[in-house]
Amino acid sequence: MKRLTCIATLLTLSACQTLHAQKPPLLSEKDVAALANELSGETAKRNLEGFARFHRQRSSKGFHDAAELVAERLRTYGLGDVAILQFPADGKIFYGTQRSRPAWEADFAELWEIATEKSKSASGDQSGQMPMTRLPGAIASYEAQPVVLAEDSESANVTGELVDVGSGSKDADYTGKNIKGKLILTSAQPGAVQDLAVGKFGAAGIISYAQNQKTAWSGENQDAIRWGHLDTFSPNKTFAFMVSLKTAHQFQSRLATGEEITLRAVVKAGQHPGNYEIVTATIPGSDRKLKDEEIAFSCHLDHQRPGANDNASGCATILEVARTLQKLINEKKLAPPARTIRFNFPPEIEGTMALLNGKPELAKRTKAVIHMDMVGGGPETKAVFHVTRGPMSLPSFVHDVAWAFADWLNDQSYQFAATGNAAYPMVAPEGGKEPLRAEYSAHTMGSDHDVYQDSSFAIPAIYLNDWPDRFIHTNFDSAANIDPTKLKRAAFIGAASGYFLAAMNEDSAQGVLVAIDYDRLLRARVAALRSEQIPARESSNLIRHFLNSEIDTFQSIHRLAPKSITSSELAFESLFPIQTLAVRAGNPPKATGDGVLIFHRKPTPKGPPTVFGYDYFAEHAKSAGIAPPKLLDYQGLWGSGEEYAYEVANFIDGKRNAQEICDAVSAEYGPVPLDLVTEYLQALEKIGLVERR
Ligand SMILES: [Zn+2]
Repeated sequence: MKRLTCIATLLTLSACQTLHAQKPPLLSEKDVAALANELSGETAKRNLEGFARFHRQRSSKGFHDAAELVAERLRTYGLGDVAILQFPADGKIFYGTQRSRPAWEADFAELWEIATEKSKSASGDQSGQMPMTRLPGAIASYEAQPVVLAEDSESANVTGELVDVGSGSKDADYTGKNIKGKLILTSAQPGAVQDLAVGKFGAAGIISYAQNQKTAWSGENQDAIRWGHLDTFSPNKTFAFMVSLKTAHQFQSRLATGEEITLRAVVKAGQHPGNYEIVTATIPGSDRKLKDEEIAFSCHLDHQRPGANDNASGCATILEVARTLQKLINEKKLAPPARTIRFNFPPEIEGTMALLNGKPELAKRTKAVIHMDMVGGGPETKAVFHVTRGPMSLPSFVHDVAWAFADWLNDQSYQFAATGNAAYPMVAPEGGKEPLRAEYSAHTMGSDHDVYQDSSFAIPAIYLNDWPDRFIHTNFDSAANIDPTKLKRAAFIGAASGYFLAAMNEDSAQGVLVAIDYDRLLRARVAALRSEQIPARESSNLIRHFLNSEIDTFQSIHRLAPKSITSSELAFESLFPIQTLAVRAGNPPKATGDGVLIFHRKPTPKGPPTVFGYDYFAEHAKSAGIAPPKLLDYQGLWGSGEEYAYEVANFIDGKRNAQEICDAVSAEYGPVPLDLVTEYLQALEKIGLVERR
């Protein structure tokens, strides 16, 4: 059991260090106390309630109103450089791999049921058409609940019979059904069926009861209405209403008895050229040289109303960080940061793609990011709070900084919950007293941190996020479920991490070395457990990558503390044994066949091959006649095809060969056959994202 011994040796490395003491980590107690006293969960929640009023669809009036509110708050709080940046979005302009999505606006949408009677000559109706009476009460009203209209719906004025097509995502679902000019009832997202239902079979519109991202609670809430989407770029323009499971089931049981249901839909909505809007503001750095470097706070301001946890919570929380830091600096309770601190409020992913591609100098200045997406879920949401690490392709100490504060706050908040007594419980007066119980979690995808940490930008991003949240993307993601205590604690972890990074230098880097050391124990444990699940060759590969990634994490300190500190005594003590183990772990077997191929990423377009609302890879693969690579559907032990693909693209650096990239993603997400990796690499080459070296 050589592999176990190797890990066990490592686990003893840090035994001489005492565990996190009661004293706060990394920052002085005075700074921590200042943050703890000023950060307010109530202030954050009040702002959250403001955002949650708006239906914040990309580039819409609702989004703009929320953006204006953020900007007004930032000005009131005294932040610098407050601006709402605009990036044209017309469906044609590209920001890296993101095709800009045109703005979408809705003015009106209602869905009613119509009572029909077979026309009789006695009725005096000579037209032969059925007289129609609207049944009282709309089934769906955009004015009351804007979530009922799927994003990218187009104007319509349609009366039609309702036909249940099940999921409606394959041809067989339509066998024996005439849906021409009718409305279909589907369990799938509208965008997943529009080309078949509308494009191929001539449906007049879509009624969807698509359910949430799958969790243990999926389908339990019969009244929840999910946020729906049509495909922004589909040529088969249509409209879609989203209904609850209860409404859908009522329709289905009536249809099952042979009853005819006729619906009338009136929609005034559509796409038009517009702008991505990104609110931004700064706290200027005070160091002559370092002020050109930036530590950015990020969130995403878009999503359906109310979208309280996803993601008014992240926006309200970084706004509270902005208020707090600015106020404490003004009052001289905190020293001004050496580096500039920036706050960004974009629409998710596509806004960040526009920002980093549209302002490359800004991307270059940004040294680290604290991204918050869903940080306020109270007990009703069933949320677990994660301090999520970065991908293995971008090892960074910033995650150890965030975890140092979170781990300490876990302890403080638990002490308080368990005994009623702690120095820093960080409980908001209107909030809960539950302990934080934050988790130190492996990298997961799904928000703007994917963009920052893509190899095109390679900006390490601390990711604070709730998962699950049983109300996500529904009309029930409301402010009532948001816990001000949780907002305050997330704000603290973010503020403390960001403030520390903005000031970090060779002196404070010593504390980071200790934080890395502690967390290596946690990472080693995961590596040890995982290495037992896989064959010996894969196990040695995993351990080799784990050790090298620890060395890289160590070296990543140079990003914010450039002068060599790796020769310091502490660094020597920590690094030397890992290096020794890494050498002992030996070299990987030599690559053969397609494994020797080496690719490098072209300088443009920048960004992940697949982004939000637009799939660069899929569109370009289709026009190049390439079959979808098998990697995209691969399910590994610890990762999905989407994650493998993201990381394969990130590991391409002009040096690693295909075998080494395969080994790297195998260590990260579980063993994957080489031919799946080479097939994907060659597909990236065919669509022109990478070149062979
Ligand atoms: Zn989100």
